[in-house]
Amino acid sequence: MKQSMTFIPTLREVPADADTKSHQLLLRAGFIRQNSSGVYSYLPLAKKVLQKIETIIREEMDNAGAVEMFMPALQQAELWQESGRWYSYGPELMRLNDRNDREFALGATHEEVITSLIRDEIKSYKRLPLALYQIQTKFRDEKRPRFGLLRGREFIMKDAYSFHSNFDSLDDVYQKMYNAYSAVFRRCGLNFRAVIADSGAMGGKDTHEFMVLSDIGEDTIAYSDSSDYAANIEMAPVTAEYEAKNEEPKSLEKVLTENQKTIEEVSSFLNTTQDNCIKSLVFKADDQYVLALVRGDFEINDIKLKNLLEASVVELASPAETKEILGCEIGSIGPVNVQKDLEIVADYSIKSIVNGVCGANEENYHFINVNPERDFKVSRFADLRFIQEGDASPDGNGLIKFAKGIEVGHVFKLGTRYSEAMNASFLDENGRSQSMIMGCYGIGVSRTLAAVAEQFNDENGLVWPANLAPYQVHVIPVNIKDEVQKELAEEIYQDLKLAGFEVLMDDRQERPGVKFADSDLIGIPVRITVGKKAAEGIVEMKVRQSGEIIEAEKSQVSQEIT
Ligand code: ATP
Ligand code: MG
Ligand code: MG
Ligand code: MG
Repeated sequence: MKQSMTFIPTLREVPADADTKSHQLLLRAGFIRQNSSGVYSYLPLAKKVLQKIETIIREEMDNAGAVEMFMPALQQAELWQESGRWYSYGPELMRLNDRNDREFALGATHEEVITSLIRDEIKSYKRLPLALYQIQTKFRDEKRPRFGLLRGREFIMKDAYSFHSNFDSLDDVYQKMYNAYSAVFRRCGLNFRAVIADSGAMGGKDTHEFMVLSDIGEDTIAYSDSSDYAANIEMAPVTAEYEAKNEEPKSLEKVLTENQKTIEEVSSFLNTTQDNCIKSLVFKADDQYVLALVRGDFEINDIKLKNLLEASVVELASPAETKEILGCEIGSIGPVNVQKDLEIVADYSIKSIVNGVCGANEENYHFINVNPERDFKVSRFADLRFIQEGDASPDGNGLIKFAKGIEVGHVFKLGTRYSEAMNASFLDENGRSQSMIMGCYGIGVSRTLAAVAEQFNDENGLVWPANLAPYQVHVIPVNIKDEVQKELAEEIYQDLKLAGFEVLMDDRQERPGVKFADSDLIGIPVRITVGKKAAEGIVEMKVRQSGEIIEAEKSQVSQEIT
């Protein structure tokens, strides 16, 4: 590709509103441009990288036995009403009406569409299991779109869904997907960990997130320094979000009134020891913060209606005391899953913090040892403590360390959450009707692009790993007006293309300094400079990553690259 013919609008200045490396560099190197908040155009270079990531994903998905398809982004409200998520998804779901005033959503994810599709077509266990995937634009009206492609409102996701007649089959495909995800992120060169995640609002059980380790990550993960153990501890500054929006969390009193509950009634539910689906919420009631343990099939907006009936309320230490104890504001204890609910200051999974209170899900799936005097003024619960760095890892191997992570992928055993709500059933071997068992598996494709950019850069720009680079070779004639240089550059360009390389040639009439700066910014792995020695058929080759420079005969060039 000749640079004069493509579109790479580079910028010298660091854009003011871009606060992460990847966001700055993708803008500066001419990969992306913002259209509106959280909405981007992918310019030609980004499109090429996306295609490479997508190719890797397709290969690994196909290898795992999933089949590609494509579903509508425009989804009728009825489907979301059937699953209940029309009511529980909150403002993140983009909604719109057609000319006849029928309600629609723009797909934030596709469980509803695929469940309705499969339930109408598959009736027998003989057709199961089935795994389908797509790569598609998703829409989520994120409260705080930021970091460029990392948290967009319109973004590209690979989402896969599997359907099963029994749990063994789900376990099998889940494992295959898990392995495929590991392969995808390994092939993208990312430094990542698979971590145990919180099943939260999805109502499922087994779930892992794939986290790219990065200081700008919005999740905190705890991992063992000497085993594979890693879990999302789901800390996120929530209070700050309210402050930023100038919103007041609703008081507990108001929540109770709305639910026609007294605090005594709510408090009377204690010591839930059996259920898996337990969440905790931190409410703000005047100056006090209240921890409510919530039991039941968890749907965020239904808390008000349903789950508070089964909540227990515990007074936490005052914000000041908490800050002293935990070193952070109380609002910063939980994850952000519940941003949608104004009355909820924070929400975090019992899985992440508690041992003993609820028997905590599965063994080794939680952080243990709660310390009431130290961490909370807890009136009822005996042992609450957040896991700390240096604690023994719950799997008994090594010590816990913390790291920040960017969630690039998520695999999830949904069970019958959607099939039950939407009547997706099949006839088993004995002719009995059963709900289909489901799994879902997502990769943030555009987020992965940004995560790679975040990890692979230096002070001069992006440094693409060879297999994801938009081009492998950047040919730069220093002076395009010099016929000898121009001809040699053209010859090398054509030869390399014939040899199967993807080549970008800077045929612009720009100063050498501009060309080199742009070239560093764009980050193509190998640069071939055609300059003074062109007459002798000699060029300079430079490796973007190491800075290593060699001179090469024109005939050796393609050999040197490989
Ligand atoms: P997050 O916790 O970052 O909000 P999520 O848990 O809501 O992500 P999922 O519903 O698990 O996201 O979607 C699957 C994948 O889609 C995520 O693992 C992530 O890589 C990607 N993704 C989710 N939201 C966004 C977004 N706003 N912009 C870009 N990618 C996203
Ligand atoms: Mg989200
Ligand atoms: Mg998440
Ligand atoms: Mg997720």
